[in-house]
Amino acid sequence: MALYQEPRLLDFTKTPPHLQFNKYVLTGYRPVSTAGECLRSLFYMHNELGNIYTHGIPFLLFLVLLPYSIPWMEVDSTWICVAHYLACLCPTIGSVLYHLFMNHIGGQHVYNTLLSLDMVGVCLVNTLGALPIIYITLLCYPTVRQTALLAYILLSAYAIYCATTAHTNFLRLRAFVWQALFRFSLFLFRVYGTGVGSPDSLRLFVIMDTLAALGGLVNVIQIPERFSPGLFDNWGNSHQIMHVMVVCSIIYLHWGTMEDLAWIRSFQCPAE
Ligand SMILES: [Zn+2]
Repeated sequence: MALYQEPRLLDFTKTPPHLQFNKYVLTGYRPVSTAGECLRSLFYMHNELGNIYTHGIPFLLFLVLLPYSIPWMEVDSTWICVAHYLACLCPTIGSVLYHLFMNHIGGQHVYNTLLSLDMVGVCLVNTLGALPIIYITLLCYPTVRQTALLAYILLSAYAIYCATTAHTNFLRLRAFVWQALFRFSLFLFRVYGTGVGSPDSLRLFVIMDTLAALGGLVNVIQIPERFSPGLFDNWGNSHQIMHVMVVCSIIYLHWGTMEDLAWIRSFQCPAE
């Protein structure tokens, strides 16, 4: 006997206008629900279930497992480890809340707040995740390092503003471009300048950014569902592909940062 009667799911045209953001996903929309009903939707099939679990399961795994591989006590500045740990958690938890409660009875206002929360999570992984990279790249230039850290935080505040006020996926993606260019300039400084860091971490960071950019692009161009509307309603659509690529990108961020933190222990800046 079922403990909970699943609600009747809706088609695209019957769902509220603010939830009609992918015209190639035709069925499986939850009706407008209370918070409790949204939580119960964790246990039956609908078109947001894949989005919730593709970030929900990694969030729990990161929360529990990452602390074991972070060298909390072996680096001079413990804040680097804290920033990195939070960076790995932010995008997935913001996303879970957005996808779980997006059909809340509060309507468009609640939806917009949750979407902003999801965007802030993405901005925070870019912001917090880059702080250790900036710190290590400019390790031998303490004054420049402080200025760069401050500049990146200000740039990130601007990216958060752009991402939370944008009205299209394209504009949201564009909000992250300045942060990406800043990181790219750091990578160039490591390769062609006097920036420092593990010789192996740069490759991992480039893969990280490539995966994140490809994921964002897939989400904007809505592939594969645009070629077969309705076929990918529950599983395999562009948003889920982006979720998986974001998780892979976070794993590469973790590997790269751990590589740098292991390397920094045996590195001495050259004397003036
Ligand atoms: Zn999402």
